[in-house]
Amino acid sequence: MTESSDLRTLAVTAGRPERVAEAPLNTPIVAASSFVAGGQLAYAREDSPTVGALEDTLGALEGGSAVAFSSGMAAANAVLDLLPHGAIVVAPEAFYTGVAIRLRELAEGGRIQVRHVAVDDTEAVRTACMDAHLLWLESPTNPLLAVADIAASARVAHAHGALVLVDNTFATPVLQQPLAEGADVVLHSVSKALSGHSDVILGALVTRDAQLAEQYRSRRVLLGASPSAFDAFLALRGIRTLPLRIERAQQNARDITARLATHPQVACVRYPGFGTMAAIETVGDSDQAELVCERVRLWTHATSLGGVESLLERRRRWPGESDLVPENLIRLSFGIEAVEDLWADLDKALSSAPTPPATGRVRR
Ligand SMILES: *Cc1c(COP(=O)(O)O)cnc(C)c1O
Repeated sequence: MTESSDLRTLAVTAGRPERVAEAPLNTPIVAASSFVAGGQLAYAREDSPTVGALEDTLGALEGGSAVAFSSGMAAANAVLDLLPHGAIVVAPEAFYTGVAIRLRELAEGGRIQVRHVAVDDTEAVRTACMDAHLLWLESPTNPLLAVADIAASARVAHAHGALVLVDNTFATPVLQQPLAEGADVVLHSVSKALSGHSDVILGALVTRDAQLAEQYRSRRVLLGASPSAFDAFLALRGIRTLPLRIERAQQNARDITARLATHPQVACVRYPGFGTMAAIETVGDSDQAELVCERVRLWTHATSLGGVESLLERRRRWPGESDLVPENLIRLSFGIEAVEDLWADLDKALSSAPTPPATGRVRR
């Protein structure tokens, strides 16, 4: 196998079977719960060849050792399960709702304490990390697209002895490699851009700390959060084209957010300057935003992100979404379709929304 450290090559070469005569090019779906005794493989909840190939690939991309889970949330819960009783967790103000709700549940039950912080304010992160066990970063955040200085945040958290986790689902290792910036753990919802085709639920943790990796693997086994071989195969297949998909979707995101910035029906555009995710606030209230979501024909009104198809969603339709997210905010997940088709569809949906009733404020 090639020694290249270029991610575009690694995405193609990592996690392949040994190159010997008649070996399959791809790691097959090994559908077995149990393996004949005498070797390393014993039971598929612990380890299985297809999941192992996915882990080798994710580890190569993030520069660490990966443990795959049955979902991003299962991976998140494995990390939380290891916290000592009463641990202080520092988390973003507005971020992925599943993790936000889970942290709230654990805090309400007295299991942990949670401090929320603006992740783009490193000084605030420094103060919040005093006596903390875990700094849980998401960058860019979902769905407000706040960007953390990962290296500086890791330094201030480590000065307080806190473990630093970065949920890298939005950026993917193509655009951001948190372990290289000093983070201890990377979390992925592999259900999103890594698998890339909206047909898999899967998660992963990646770390350079061998002891942590073993602890996560043990959580995976004991909590019963192991992925299926079939899902691991689909995710692995998706990863082969990850760099290409990100490049194309990012180009679409850059191009369309630039046009949205001057659209008369758009009051605000959030785009961090990189990546495949953005958010807009439409002129008018939440009903106006809903109408835009209903009117699109090429874009799909659906939750999730990172697939080849462009999705949009008014995030506050979910009761669990943070109050900090405006009611009229629509999150955009850019796919790989032709940019002019995406623009035409979105522009039409925005422009044909009825003009909001006069509120006395000056409207653009
Ligand atoms: C979807 C998502 C998760 C949860 O992953 P699942 O695979 O759906 O369990 C975690 N973090 C972020 C940023 C996500 O988008």
